[in-house]
Amino acid sequence: MYDLLVIGGGNAALCAAIKAREAGLSVLVLESAPREWRGGNSIHTRNLRCMHDAPQDVLTEAYSEEEYWQDLLKVTGGLTNEKLAKLVIRESSKCRPWMMKHGVRFQGSLSGTLHLSRTNAFFLGGGKALVNAYFRSAEKLGIEIRYETNVTSLDVKDGTFYGAYVGDEYIQAKACVVASGGFESNKEWLREAWGPVADNFLIRGTRYNMGVVLKDLLAHGADQIGDPTQGHAVAIDARAPEYDGGICTRIDCVSLGIVVNKNAKRFYDEGEDFWPKRYAIWGRLVAGQPDQIAHSIIDQKAIGRFMPPVFPGVVANTLEELAEGLGLDVQEFVKTVTDYNNACTVGSFDHSVLDGCQTQGIEPAKTNWAQPINHPPYYGYTLRPGITFTYLGVQIDENARILFGGQPSNNLFAAGEVMAGNVLGKGYLAGIGMSIGTVFGLVAGESAAKELLGARV
Ligand SMILES: Cc1cc2nc3c(=O)[nH]c(=O)nc-3n(C[C@H](O)[C@H](O)[C@H](O)COP(=O)(O)OP(=O)(O)OC[C@H]3O[C@@H](n4cnc5c(N)ncnc54)[C@H](O)[C@@H]3O)c2cc1C
Repeated sequence: MYDLLVIGGGNAALCAAIKAREAGLSVLVLESAPREWRGGNSIHTRNLRCMHDAPQDVLTEAYSEEEYWQDLLKVTGGLTNEKLAKLVIRESSKCRPWMMKHGVRFQGSLSGTLHLSRTNAFFLGGGKALVNAYFRSAEKLGIEIRYETNVTSLDVKDGTFYGAYVGDEYIQAKACVVASGGFESNKEWLREAWGPVADNFLIRGTRYNMGVVLKDLLAHGADQIGDPTQGHAVAIDARAPEYDGGICTRIDCVSLGIVVNKNAKRFYDEGEDFWPKRYAIWGRLVAGQPDQIAHSIIDQKAIGRFMPPVFPGVVANTLEELAEGLGLDVQEFVKTVTDYNNACTVGSFDHSVLDGCQTQGIEPAKTNWAQPINHPPYYGYTLRPGITFTYLGVQIDENARILFGGQPSNNLFAAGEVMAGNVLGKGYLAGIGMSIGTVFGLVAGESAAKELLGARV
């Protein structure tokens, strides 16, 4: 019998598996994806958000615990467990040496992209390289990995884990870390939560996070955290594939122009805050529009100020032509842009600060970076909601133990997306998904080892 069963093959699972193995446990990792698709949503990532009191190699200046905490409070509106959130924040300042020991390399943030070098450390080669490094390290340490092994249910009684089922096969272990992600790949479950609008959602990441183990844990009485309609959803290129489009489908020019729905009407303040703090609300906003579709509109002045999308948008020399190219009512579109242009007050545009360049007298207002759209050519990108990950999960304590009726399990732990809702009740901060998974992956691995080996850890 293995000491520890780890369910999942993404960042959180691998951190837990390696940490537990380092402490001396025998570990079996079950990954539902085939080897070539291993790594879950983690393969699509680029960075993690790190607290630091002074510059640290790729991280510039300082990002204090208090600032990180305030940023989190702002995006979640206070829907966060302070104890668990502060643990993530503090440990995020310490986890990188361990990551590097296991082959993860970092690079400075690329200029002209997301301006995140102060708050976020970027992985050299992205999340795919990170996951590959962890798998290599795991194999070297003697961790056994089984691919195409989809856990269908758990054997749990009164909060104690006995084994896992893979179809008819029963796999026993002394403890288990569940790191199987959210339920974002499960279109049926998304439809249950969101209604028929979910049929127009695209899944930005893996097709393997079906939420099977999450559902089973909840059925076994694990305490639930979060609301099934909460999650990370961004506005992405409507031409993206149904799964695994990844980051190259992002459209990052929202704050530089306006966004209109299929009726050519604006519907939200495009300049509410810096894009990294706001991009995660736009999926939900587009999901709330007729037919779950919208169009991001910019003019030539915006070019060079954002990461260019992979596929060109509709380009036109007049607003009328742009409207036609996007399939919008020409008169309505021209009126929306003209009203917006007339409402822009004169200010000093600066995309690197909240510059207060705003509109006056229109609803919704644009409160920063409002500049008239009057410099052809004009560009339009059609947007759809792209689900990144869901926040519904299981409640845990600070040792990553899953709670059952408020009581921590003795041998069942959770890490990553499956428990991210403890920290993220709503909203998102760029890079915190990997911070949560890394920190709680390490905590879960260590807690499992302490549980099984006691004072020897
Ligand atoms: C396009 C994109 C870009 C992102 N960029 C960033 C970023 O730059 N920074 C950041 O912090 N976050 C980012 N995120 C979010 C980030 O991916 C997640 O927060 C993080 O990867 C979660 O890690 P995890 O290990 O919990 O889940 P995952 O990496 O998704 O791993 C879950 C694993 O569980 C496996 N699994 C699922 N069900 C079962 C089952 N029944 N049996 C066995 N295995 C199962 C899956 O195959 C998968 O391997 C991004 C997400 C996407 C989609």
